[in-house]
Amino acid sequence: MMLTVLGASGTYPRPGGACNGYLVQEGETNLVIDLGNGCLSRLRMAVEFTELSAVLITHMHIDHFADLYPLYYALRFHPGKPWGLRLLLPEGGLSLVGRILGEDARAHLPRVFREEALCSGNIYQIGDVYVSAFPTSHPVEGYAVRVEGKGWSLAYSSDTGPTPHLVEAARGVDLFICEATLPASYQEEASHGHMTSHQAGEAAEAAGARRLLLTHIWPTFEPVEILAEAREVYHGEVEVAREGMVLRLGGADVA
Ligand SMILES: [Zn+2]
Ligand SMILES: [Zn+2]
Repeated sequence: MMLTVLGASGTYPRPGGACNGYLVQEGETNLVIDLGNGCLSRLRMAVEFTELSAVLITHMHIDHFADLYPLYYALRFHPGKPWGLRLLLPEGGLSLVGRILGEDARAHLPRVFREEALCSGNIYQIGDVYVSAFPTSHPVEGYAVRVEGKGWSLAYSSDTGPTPHLVEAARGVDLFICEATLPASYQEEASHGHMTSHQAGEAAEAAGARRLLLTHIWPTFEPVEILAEAREVYHGEVEVAREGMVLRLGGADVA
């Protein structure tokens, strides 16, 4: 399996960055998890949008779904009409996307995207991969996801404060992509539905995750400092997500 980081900036992009998005590729399966602003351009460097198996949006915050808009127009006006792309998102998500569109564009939305409600307790098969969703602790409905394929597993926190559901999602995974929006000293600010470096490290440690990838760092903070703080509490391999980063999972081929 190949994971490409499309975007890793928290809330708004760093210079040259993009907000959250990840591409999971296993055989013929191309699954996009979150598609924040700036991600579609980076996605197209890895795979064409007509080749996607599904897009999953973990929660309806702009920095996680903004590029659904350009994706919608790209699909809608493509000569081959590759409509009906599977779109998993929290209940009512597509109608929220449609609110700022004109009448005609809104009418096409459910043809271009085949909406599927994301909820906890279900297992979603997307080509060769399986996805399960776990509720987050965040101001809007959202889900951390666990994604599994042949011989590998990963979890992605989405945006969340500490919750036992997150530890459950990441239990024993090969790779845990976890938000670490803030430094450890910002625990009070993080209590509104985000994690500090220490909390991300603690969640990874509690889950027994084999490798930790920190993401969604607020752009005014230094990733190296967040990384050093996470290392104080997590004893596995840890690094910071960067746009364009590619990780391979499965078998011994972890690069
Ligand atoms: Zn976010
Ligand atoms: Zn959010």
